[in-house]
Amino acid sequence: MASKLLIIGAGMATACLLQSLSGRDHNLVITVIGDERDCCYNRVMLSSVLAGEETPENLDMLGAACAKEAKFLAGTRASHIDLEKKQVLCDGGTTVAFDQLVIATGSQVARPPLDCSGIEGIREFRSLQDTRDFQAMAAKNKHAVVVGGGLLGLEAAHGLNKQGFVTTVLHRNTHLMNRQLDVEGGKQLQRTLERGGLSFRLGTSVASVQSARGHITGLELQSGEALPCDLLVLATGILPNTQLAAGAGLASDRGIVVDNRMRTEVADVYAIGECSQIDQQCFGLVAPIREQAAVLAREILRQRGEPFQQQEWPTQLKISGIDIYSAGELDDSAEQIFLRDPGAAIYRRLVIRDNRLIGAALVGDKNGGTWYAELIQNKQDIADLRSGLMFGRNVAQAMANAAQKAA
Ligand SMILES: Cc1cc2nc3c(=O)[nH]c(=O)nc-3n(C[C@H](O)[C@H](O)[C@H](O)COP(=O)(O)OP(=O)(O)OC[C@H]3O[C@@H](n4cnc5c(N)ncnc54)[C@H](O)[C@@H]3O)c2cc1C
Repeated sequence: MASKLLIIGAGMATACLLQSLSGRDHNLVITVIGDERDCCYNRVMLSSVLAGEETPENLDMLGAACAKEAKFLAGTRASHIDLEKKQVLCDGGTTVAFDQLVIATGSQVARPPLDCSGIEGIREFRSLQDTRDFQAMAAKNKHAVVVGGGLLGLEAAHGLNKQGFVTTVLHRNTHLMNRQLDVEGGKQLQRTLERGGLSFRLGTSVASVQSARGHITGLELQSGEALPCDLLVLATGILPNTQLAAGAGLASDRGIVVDNRMRTEVADVYAIGECSQIDQQCFGLVAPIREQAAVLAREILRQRGEPFQQQEWPTQLKISGIDIYSAGELDDSAEQIFLRDPGAAIYRRLVIRDNRLIGAALVGDKNGGTWYAELIQNKQDIADLRSGLMFGRNVAQAMANAAQKAA
């Protein structure tokens, strides 16, 4: 007999799950409830769409065959989960029954405490609809301010700048991408972005918002400076969407609490993606979510397999022409190898402890990044590779081979 699999949220985690289920032998009838008009697109590429470097049509993650695996209720918001009756109630009154339920509701922006309710022009950058709206608003001499100099903020700022907004980034920390880069790397990145037309105000944040006729017109910063502003984009971190699960009585902490097989404490109810939490860890990158999806697909099909494993997930910035790659930890007390070429806007730092690579920060040249992430993950002994390590796998191995021959 067919079994009803219901998924709430039509984002990237759901796309990965459907990909993992696709082509496998199963008797599932799958329904996906998604509150966006667009389903299962590659959110990672939104900044490229905003920058005009990619088109929305190329963001589809499913393809016709995989999309056929499920019935999509697009533009529909799930408002209540009834675990007793095994059904989900949606805005508008639709009820959908399930045998197995996956919650994949993603996250929302962690908004700073600003007194700005009812003021238009204050937005997040999370969806294709946000991207379309920003493109429709764009005009020369309009001012956009992005709050947050992390990965998402910088990508949003780059896209807005390419759309013609005069764009400024505000960042509370004194250097950009402070979670992934050290001061020198952050400053190098800033200089490169400034050459591309972005402006920065670091070590400060918004004190108050000015408006006229209900629309934002400007900002006062904590530094006392006033900035004109027609569009304020908040990229101030993410908060997992746990409300729906918590409302049903499922255990929630920062995210919806699941074990390493994506199971909540209620049988046949799972959570996956940015809304989930495993041990103390929540997720904000696609790579671990893809792994979660593979584990959950096996769980749903009652197949055996490895559970989800925590690991170091590298970060990349996707601003065309600017290479950024960061993996592992940048521990100042460990051994360091640097490569600095300010003229070419390159800064590379490798961090080594006990002959193991533990961290890499690459700005302006990410050659070797994936390899470094593997070395970090596998805790490989790099003693023989050390002399060429900074120049990537091929050079490092060639130098190691030459040294071996000479010995
Ligand atoms: C602009 C941008 C750039 C990014 N760049 C990168 C990158 O370079 N690399 C990287 O690894 N990650 C990147 N990310 C993060 C990545 O997109 C997310 O980690 C990933 O999309 C998370 O997948 P998810 O399915 O958990 O959440 P989402 O993809 O956000 O999907 C959740 C979906 O659930 C819907 N939903 C929520 N509540 C309900 C409800 N009650 N009823 C119905 N639907 C609901 C949401 O509207 C959303 O459509 C980026 C994110 C953004 C926004």
